[in-house]
Order: sequence, then C-alpha cells, then structure tokens
Amino acid sequence: MEIRKGIAVSPGMAIAPAIVLDSEQFRIPRRSIEPSEVAAELARFQQAVERAQAEVRDLRERVSADVGEKLGAIFDVQDALLTDAHVLSEIRELVEREHYAPEYAVSTILRNYAKKFLALPNRYMAERVSDVYDVEKRLLRNLIGAKRESIGTLTEPVIIIAHDLTPSQTASLDRSKILAFATDIGGRTSHTTIVARAMGIPAVVGLKTITADVSGGDSVIVDGNRGLVIMNPDEPTIARFREADLRFRRMELELGDLRDSPAVTLDGHETKLWGNIEFPHDVETCLARGASGVGLYRTEFLYLDREDDPTEEDHFQAYAEAISLLKGRPITIRTCDLGADKFTHLSGDYDERNPFLGCRSIRFSLQHIGLFKTQLRAILRASALGPTRIMFPLITNLKELRQAKMLLADVREDLEEEGLEFDPDIKVGIMIEVPSAAIMARNFARECDFFSIGTNDLTQYTLAVDRSNERVASYYTPGHPAVLRLIRTVCEAALDAGVEIAVCGEMAGEPTYVPVLLGLGVHVLSVSPATLLEIKKMIRSLSMDQAREVCDKVFQFDSDREVDAYLAEITRRLLPELFA
Ligand code: PEP
Ligand code: MG
Repeated sequence: MEIRKGIAVSPGMAIAPAIVLDSEQFRIPRRSIEPSEVAAELARFQQAVERAQAEVRDLRERVSADVGEKLGAIFDVQDALLTDAHVLSEIRELVEREHYAPEYAVSTILRNYAKKFLALPNRYMAERVSDVYDVEKRLLRNLIGAKRESIGTLTEPVIIIAHDLTPSQTASLDRSKILAFATDIGGRTSHTTIVARAMGIPAVVGLKTITADVSGGDSVIVDGNRGLVIMNPDEPTIARFREADLRFRRMELELGDLRDSPAVTLDGHETKLWGNIEFPHDVETCLARGASGVGLYRTEFLYLDREDDPTEEDHFQAYAEAISLLKGRPITIRTCDLGADKFTHLSGDYDERNPFLGCRSIRFSLQHIGLFKTQLRAILRASALGPTRIMFPLITNLKELRQAKMLLADVREDLEEEGLEFDPDIKVGIMIEVPSAAIMARNFARECDFFSIGTNDLTQYTLAVDRSNERVASYYTPGHPAVLRLIRTVCEAALDAGVEIAVCGEMAGEPTYVPVLLGLGVHVLSVSPATLLEIKKMIRSLSMDQAREVCDKVFQFDSDREVDAYLAEITRRLLPELFA
C-alpha cells in the first residue's frame, strides 16, 4: 500500500480499479490472455519493439543531420532502453508467466523504471524519466495501433488516473462509470476541477507522478476531501475508508435538510445564495441543493468539443432550457470566456506564450464580433422567457465595457426592428477578476448594474500565480491580504454606488471565507452546486455582528498564513461537524 498527497479539489471518496490514461488519452487496461495466445502475443510485442527501434534510429539520424550530432544523441537513451535485454525480458516474463497482454506488461514495467529513475538523487538520471515515458508511448502506439480503447466504452466502475484532463474531457466523463479521478498536474481553481466539482466527481490533482505510480487495474482509493490517493490499500485501510465514506454521506444527508431553508444569518440578514453552472441541466443540481438562482453560467462550454461554432439557435436553446428549469428564479449569463485553458476549434489559429495573459474572454469576444453578437442576440431573446442578466468577463478597462455595451445596443436595435421580444430592462454587469478592474471599481460602478467578483482569476492575477499549476499551488490563496484588500475596495465602491455585489469565484464556496464576505457587505454568493449546502449552513451559523468582527480582525493580519489559520479556527468553532 502506498499513499500520495495532492490537492483536494472535489469532495467525496471512491474506491475502484484504476485505468491509467497516457497523455494521448488512451487507456491501458489490465487485460489477460489465454496461455495458447502467448506465442502470438510475444511475436506482436517483438514486432512493436522493432518498429519502435526503427523509429528512434530514424529520428536520431534526422535530428543529427538537421541540428547536429549532439542533439541526435539524445535518442541514444531511448535506443538503449529498447534494446536492453533485461528490460525486454522483464516485459516478456509478465506476458509468459502472468499471461498479461503486452500493452499492460509494457506499461507496468516501464512505469516501474520511471518511478526508480525519479527517485534517483542524480539529477541527470532523474531527468531520463521523460525518455522512459516516450519509449512507453512509442511501444504502446505500435502495439495498440488503431485499436485504441476509449473511456467512452467502459462497462465497470473505474477511477481515472491521468496526467491531466481538459475541462471538456472532464465534462464528458460518464458519471455512472467514473467514480473519481486523480491527475499529475492541476490546481484548485483550474477549470477542470471546477467542472469536476460541478459534476460531483471526487478528484485529487497536482499529484505530480501519479500516472507513473499507478498501473491500470490497481485498486485505488481517491479521497477528494483530504487530497489523498491510496494505492493498493490493505484491508484495515479499506475498512476505514468505508467508515469515512459513510460519515461523509451522512453529513451530506443532514445538510440536505437545509435545502428549503433560507440563507439567513442568526440575526435575520438574508444573503442570495446562487449556483454556478456549466450546462443547462446543472440547474437541477443547483435547485436540488437549495440555490435560489444562478449567479454564473459559464457559456463557453457550448463551444468546447465541437468543430464549428454554436449557432444563435444553439445558444438560445441552452439558455431557454436553463431559464425554464429555473422557474422564475434569476440567471446570470456570462458571455463566453474562451481562450486560456478553454480551447475551441478557433484556438488552433493561435499559439500564445501566455494564454492567461492573452486573447482571452471579453478580448476574444471583441475580436470576434460576429460570434459575440450571435451570443448577445440569443441572450437577449432568452431574456423574454425569465429574469436574465448579462455579465461580461475579464473586463480590464472602461473601453471594453463601453464597446461591449455598444454592441449590445446594436443587437437590441436589430431585435426591435425584427419585432423579436426581449427584456428591455435587462441588467448588465461585469466580472471583477483583474486588479485593474478592482482598483477602478468606482468608475465601473457608474456604468453597470452589478459586479461579480471572480476570485479565481483575481487571485491568480494579483499574486502572479497560475491557478492551474500545482508547482505554485502553495502561493495561491484568496486569503492573501492583497487579494482581500482588492475585494474590500470593490465592495466599498459597489455599496457606495448602490450596485449589487456578488462573488462567484471558488472563494465564495469555501465556508472559511463566508464571514469575511458577509462582513464586507456582499449581497450574493454564487457557488459550485457541490458546496451550496455547506455554505448555507455556514451563513445560518453566524450573525452579521460576528461576520463584521471577523472581517475587522482579518484586515489586521499581514500574511495569508495568519488569515487562513484564523479563519480556519473560526470555522472550526462555528461548524465543528465540518472538521469531524
Ligand atoms: C473566476 O475567475 O473567479 C471565475 C468565476 O471565472 P472562471 O473560473 O470561469 O475563470
Ligand atoms: Mg474567471
């Protein structure tokens, strides 16, 4: 049994056999073969080895001719691995003695080597691990060829182990078969993990080497509450896991009783507790967990995984479905936040060095006016069906807001001319998710109806920490005094101007930050459906006086460690059951 600690990003626990996806996302199953098939399978393996050797030698020659002998020699390491009698005989033995398919044997043996290389103190040797992966991939490609299995064809429940998953891959996971996932890379607010939380799939990310540590078929526990992955657990550990899982489910059930209770503090102050969604049907989960509206609809998910642009009708149908499920409750439709880690077929045209600082979000929309107007038309038309608000993401200056509003005005005129219905009083707001917008909040407050603070990006841009990079995850916290001060600046500007203030980043879904946000006067908390009930419980466990007191104290600290430690202590006192 071995335990790895990563970043807990989506709550819940699961135990199941693992399937390991390599970076090309095909699965390496633990497949057995009949004794009578051994000879043929060994011949297939031999052929794959020979083809891989030929590929590597060919590459060596081409690289040497193009850029010099020294760089060409890089491939000698791979050639040596592919001709190493010991390595090859270990693989053959697994096929001969254990009757495993060569794919599984290759993967198991080479990943064992990768693990050993990684553990070496010698930096040069440790770096050879990428050669081992390369050889593994090369052999698998030659073995599997066109017969790749896809995770779409699963018949039994599994846990996915992958280097990384994209947001759209995560969104297309079959929840009935995929009980949890664990990845080498990723951070707490990367879009992949946001989707996992929304779908209720327990997940741990940032495990660095989990794809090397686990082999397909290994029994694995993923504990998304504590950020642990336990490989090949022993019996006492499995028993403890079952107990903890039961406790977690019981707590979920108890929280479920709060579904229809209002989100009010002990002294009767009501907060709007709304949900964040990626797909229209997520509204059902939000309502089942007691949300009274949607504060963030990430519409860019309409674009993911398709080869063309969604039409106005595609947009309209999605919005109409969400609005109809909401039955009169408000929805905040954010225009597309494309770019950065949310790729579309259009992203292929660009190769940006710093995509999070690049043509992302409203910038992308303003450079693709046709697409933008299509979406605005659909949102406006949908606004005739129920209370709808429009929100522009990643606004950094007033010019962008004015341009976006001008385009919206154009579209309104078009619809009027065409005699199509829409809400003439539709509210228009912006996300505050970059420091420039936070600092200029008073100016923005004059030109929009509401603000929604996107703390995921605000934290990343304030602290210069990539929100999806596990190597800098320890720097990433909205509890940093600089982030808190920016949030306070925005709240003060909004309250003075009478503009509604919401928080829709993951910070709003962390119980520890609720007292601070309420203390700052935030009107709306919009959170991932998974955390709605916990947040409601937190709101109902404190008074506004307590919230303001906590808030005052928090601004006296000068480091995120002090802030986070103090807030954890307060939460432990207010909600001891969350820490049980
Ligand atoms: C945010 O940045 O906090 C936010 C809610 O937007 P997203 O996570 O989609 O970037
Ligand atoms: Mg954002």
